[in-house]
Amino acid sequence: MNEDKGNQGQAWIRNQVMAQGLCTGCAACVGLCPYQKFYRDQTAVIHECDRTWGRCSAYCPRGQVDLGGLRTILFEPRDITPELGAVKGLYMTRSTDPEIRDRAQHGGTVSTLVALTLKEGFIHKAVLAERKNNQVSESVAISDPDAVASFAGSKFSVAPTVAKFNEISQGEPSKIGVVATPCQALALARMRAYPQPGDEERMKNLALVIGLFCGWALSFRELRRLIKEKAGADRIQGMDIPPSQHKIMELHTEKGLIEIPMEEVQTCIRESCRYCYDLTCEFSDLSVGSARSPEGWAVDRGWNQVLVRTDKGQALLDLARSRGILEFKAVPPENLDRLKAASLGKKNTCMIQLEEVSGRKEDLIYTRREAILCQ
Ligand SMILES: Cc1cc2nc3c(=O)[nH]c(=O)nc-3n(C[C@H](O)[C@H](O)[C@H](O)COP(=O)(O)OP(=O)(O)OC[C@H]3O[C@@H](n4cnc5c(N)ncnc54)[C@H](O)[C@@H]3O)c2cc1C
Ligand code: SF4
Ligand code: SF4
Repeated sequence: MNEDKGNQGQAWIRNQVMAQGLCTGCAACVGLCPYQKFYRDQTAVIHECDRTWGRCSAYCPRGQVDLGGLRTILFEPRDITPELGAVKGLYMTRSTDPEIRDRAQHGGTVSTLVALTLKEGFIHKAVLAERKNNQVSESVAISDPDAVASFAGSKFSVAPTVAKFNEISQGEPSKIGVVATPCQALALARMRAYPQPGDEERMKNLALVIGLFCGWALSFRELRRLIKEKAGADRIQGMDIPPSQHKIMELHTEKGLIEIPMEEVQTCIRESCRYCYDLTCEFSDLSVGSARSPEGWAVDRGWNQVLVRTDKGQALLDLARSRGILEFKAVPPENLDRLKAASLGKKNTCMIQLEEVSGRKEDLIYTRREAILCQ
């Protein structure tokens, strides 16, 4: 087992994470002991535990995280950039299957890659998110590549992804791929790099992490209220957030498009997302977000930007290209710098918020300033 200082037991989670509004709802602390449960979009302590060691705080992305140590263990040092973590390459891709594109959030790159890895047997199960009634998100584990597209599309309330991984990774050995937001991917990275006693075998099951870029997530209650206000009982087919200059969230309903002003959406953002430094899902094999190009949102919404971070991620993307299931187009030369600037913007906002709540400049509750900046 590698050494990780950041393990203080459940008390740390109660006092330094939940009470400070830092809990992301990643659900990494759920399913490994009976004392935390996930309900709708919240993790709750149902029994207080006074042990000073626990897998909960060891894996919590808002526990005391050694980001530098994690980067050293999981990535090649020469790939690490201060703004985006490890980067082997930036690509612009979309699925060549119009049916996947039709169901997907953007270009369907994530669904295409998940289906490919299941088909090829690189993974046996994939953990994905499902939209339930009332904007609650659930996590599912599937093994049928043909079922992947039915779980496409972004769910803007958090899903208990890591709890689902915890559940299935304790069964028979199998290779598991996880589609994760940055906070979920960070929890999985802590598990993989510093498995706690008894978890070494379980963590061999984690075969792939496909990350999603993430600006913020919404409280399911607030989202439900907003949707009711704007769309009444109309069925919601999807949601999206165009580039920031549009200042809106799109709500796609059975009756058409509703544009919600961003200042109204901002009141629905989860408090914990204010303390999140990671826009591009730095602790993944590859991470995927929406595209940006001079062609504008009408075209870009059908494409993805992909940051490759590990050799495994690169091999997967190369395989998808060689099979002709992903289409590639040239990345505008300014895109890497734009992505770096956007990522740095989120890191800076996070550090300001953490300074405010901690009253300290360097020691920022769950991490340190230089670690956020990959120094
Ligand atoms: C909360 C949230 C915030 C985001 N913010 C940004 C942003 O600011 N900028 C940006 O460029 N991109 C953002 N994204 C990513 C973007 O919305 C798309 O997911 C990404 O571009 C991939 O598109 P795709 O067409 O390849 O995905 P698809 O092929 O549609 O696949 C999406 C996959 O993500 C899984 N998924 C959906 N919601 C969740 C969830 N809540 N938790 C875990 N897995 C989930 C689905 O099960 C599916 O497998 C965000 C996503 C989420 C969930
Ligand atoms: S592990 Fe995740 S769900 Fe649990 S306290 Fe930490 S942030 Fe919250
Ligand atoms: S902004 Fe950060 S904390 Fe919030 S859902 Fe996204 S990754 Fe998690």
